Amino acid sequence: MTIRCVHVEGGEIQLQSRAEPIREAGQAIVEITRAGLSHLDAAIGQGRVDFTGVPGQEMVGRVTQVDSEQEEWKSARVVIDPLINCSQCRWCGAGLRSQCSDLRIIGRSGADGGLATHVVVPLTSLVRIPDHVDDDAAVFAVPVSRAIQAARQATIQGQTYVTIVGDNALALLTAQVLVRLNASVRVLGGHETLLDRCERWGIRHRRREEAGHRADQDIVVECTGERPAVAATLGFVRPRGTIIQMIAPRVVGDRGTTLDLQKLVDGEIRLIGSSFGPVREAVDLIATDQIDVVSLVGVRKRLEDVPGILSDPQLATGRKVLVTP
Ligand SMILES: [Zn+2]
Repeated sequence: MTIRCVHVEGGEIQLQSRAEPIREAGQAIVEITRAGLSHLDAAIGQGRVDFTGVPGQEMVGRVTQVDSEQEEWKSARVVIDPLINCSQCRWCGAGLRSQCSDLRIIGRSGADGGLATHVVVPLTSLVRIPDHVDDDAAVFAVPVSRAIQAARQATIQGQTYVTIVGDNALALLTAQVLVRLNASVRVLGGHETLLDRCERWGIRHRRREEAGHRADQDIVVECTGERPAVAATLGFVRPRGTIIQMIAPRVVGDRGTTLDLQKLVDGEIRLIGSSFGPVREAVDLIATDQIDVVSLVGVRKRLEDVPGILSDPQLATGRKVLVTP
């Protein structure tokens, strides 16, 4: 049997056919049924994040091969948690698996990802999907996990005013998770049709250029990594407030920060980076209809279309692009 995958190396993006991957003990082979394209995939496709291999951190599939003593996983529908941690270092011991000193991220560093027909992953990366959750919804588990992680870092207490900068899928998932914590959330974006979704969820929204720089927000969550948006966060956040940065400027092509560190110092602002989060909790949130992901499904592509679109700077700026192998 051969598999197909999107391989990136030295700026070349190719659809490749390969021999079936070799599975070691403790690993599973998963046949991918749906993948989502992320900011990281776009950055890898544009050569702005170094990675040689198969990108794709957001993937859903069906287990085709496992160790014989793990037969209960055979044919299971799963989301794959992209973080592979060692479970032994001091950070893993402290419960900070995303900061493991030996961390690998599937489709990002040290392991091939989900832009393929099949992927080999550790059994510990498998998260079961309840039968009633379809692939289109389940594939949002990884970005939803990022939204949960940001919410954990945000410290919502009492009446907390939160501004989300951006209206891509990650921003709109983060807005929905934060609203559930009773934060007063507003979304600043530029896509009218996406901002209309906020209306349905009862989330306030404005076009970013219309928002006043009143420095009155307790928390500002920056979800675009675009220079003007990153710079604007300091105009929205209150003194001693918090900025949570979810996308690195380098990932969207704007090298170097435009954050005015003098303002950061003078305002005693906290700046927090936020990365991958708990995938199992994300699946629960999706499975119990506590978050609307279906509205965020954008265009659908086949695996063979991916090499042609992976270097598009607009790839992850709106609704989620879904890939079916
Ligand atoms: Zn570790």
